[in-house]
Amino acid sequence: MALSDKDRIFTNLYGTQPWNLQAAQMRGDWDGTAGFIGKGRDWVIEEVKNSGLRGRGGAGFPTGMKWSFMPKQSDGRPAYLVVNADESEPGTCKDRDIIRHDPQKLIEGCLIAGFAMNAVAGYIYIRGEYYNEAMVLEAAIDEAYEAGLLGKNAAGSGYDFDLYVHRGAGAYICGEETALIESLEGKKGMPRLKPPFPAAVGLYGCPTTVNNVETIAVVPTILRRGAGWFSGFGRPKNAGTKVFCISGHVNKPCNVEAEMSIPLRELIDRYAGGVRGGWDNLLAVIPGGSSVPLLPKHICDDVLMDFDALREHKSGLGTAGVIVMDKSTDVVRAIARLAHFYKHESCGQCTPCREGTGWMKRVMDRMVRGEAEIEEIDVLEQVTRQVEGHTICALGDAAAWPIQGLIRHFRPEMERRILERQGRPMPLAAE
Ligand code: SF4
Repeated sequence: MALSDKDRIFTNLYGTQPWNLQAAQMRGDWDGTAGFIGKGRDWVIEEVKNSGLRGRGGAGFPTGMKWSFMPKQSDGRPAYLVVNADESEPGTCKDRDIIRHDPQKLIEGCLIAGFAMNAVAGYIYIRGEYYNEAMVLEAAIDEAYEAGLLGKNAAGSGYDFDLYVHRGAGAYICGEETALIESLEGKKGMPRLKPPFPAAVGLYGCPTTVNNVETIAVVPTILRRGAGWFSGFGRPKNAGTKVFCISGHVNKPCNVEAEMSIPLRELIDRYAGGVRGGWDNLLAVIPGGSSVPLLPKHICDDVLMDFDALREHKSGLGTAGVIVMDKSTDVVRAIARLAHFYKHESCGQCTPCREGTGWMKRVMDRMVRGEAEIEEIDVLEQVTRQVEGHTICALGDAAAWPIQGLIRHFRPEMERRILERQGRPMPLAAE
């Protein structure tokens, strides 16, 4: 089902109206919240399950199922909700705009999600660079407290819930849920080995669920409009609406809420004004922050923007940070830049990632300059395979995939640079 303006959840994504509580309530926020809570925890979790909502932070795990992992009965330990607002994925800036312009959606979502998981409090962990957004969020939370929507008997529901903002200090790895928990506890932000999972042993050793900003912010609207409404968008197992961040060589870079599973070509044409210089000028698109690039031929195949379709193309939806590159792009340099990012952000606690990201970055720098040997392309590929799947957290995989995609799709360009520098002719393409 195509998304019309009246279907949009984030009606103030561009800040055309004020973000304050009164304006948010005029847009429908906090309407009937106590009534949803009155229907009980199981009802809320069932609605979220039935909506088909999958986590919007990159992994795409079913949200209702994740919530159901939290203990039903308290064993004496408090439970916590943690919201991951440490948005740092390349090309991704959707949570920033939700917090800037629609913070009450997130706050109301925190109350409902916290209730569903029997949490006594929620912590919104926001990246340090989002200073202005943290100020907006603090002010919006203050307004919610003053209006009785948080704290004791929150929103008149009979449920007590407190909400705090915690600012990070600029480490990308703190967006990984267990590193985020470590950081919240005041320690160095390093991912933990799992299991135990946070639902069993999370913040301060207590049951905890970590959800992305967008995931939590869509929940109140799902409850208001019904699980069937939300699941009516997209495809089975890839339901709902999604905020896409479209950047790079398009005519109108934007954040836009569209239906899940929208064809990539339509997404770029309809909302971002098309590729700069037209589709014939397209080199590649990274569909999900730092996932494997797609080529024009994939896009002509009408690749759909959802978790499963992009996996079939050996890429990923990730955070839906769509980075468009036209033919003026030095693709080897662009991927080398990503390699630098991951090397810089590796926490260094596991060897394949610590050593591998540094090694990949150094080889990619030489590839950019054409100073490598042709054989090193295969060695580089093998190193990415040694990193992928052999690390504590997914940063190692994220570092490996763009390079694998580069070699798969742009090997001739890598070879051309090396041969050109060596003054050797390019071999003729095989018949
Ligand atoms: Fe740290 Fe990298 Fe290991 Fe993740 S994969 S725990 S970032 S060293």
